[in-house]
Amino acid sequence: MFESGSAIRAVMMCIHAYFNIWCDAKAGWSVFMKRRTAVNKIESLPEADKEQLRLLDDVCAICYQEMQSAKITKCKHFFHGVCLRKWLYVQDRCPLCHEILYGIESDTIKENNQPAPPEENHHDSE
Ligand SMILES: [Zn+2]
Ligand SMILES: [Zn+2]
Repeated sequence: MFESGSAIRAVMMCIHAYFNIWCDAKAGWSVFMKRRTAVNKIESLPEADKEQLRLLDDVCAICYQEMQSAKITKCKHFFHGVCLRKWLYVQDRCPLCHEILYGIESDTIKENNQPAPPEENHHDSE
């Protein structure tokens, strides 16, 4: 009786360790995906031209440095591309107006987390 009890405990410990590792890996993966999405999204944002920057005549709201080049968010705010990327690692919202800058695209989630198609039970019993 005692032996089977400790065997169960050993199994439970393995399961526990397995889930801890798995959860860590999943969390790491979602951070990685989030960063990848952030980079892609920023690359897809339009670049502000010199004229727009001159008219704006403002500093980047993230680092408070002058902008020689900037990305324009869909809420029409200007930030350094680098600053925006760093910001998006931790926040999905525009630092100025708190608009959501982008939604995590369901496509990227789907392609990596595809539910297995229902298994058909073909029993070739010949
Ligand atoms: Zn900046
Ligand atoms: Zn904004």
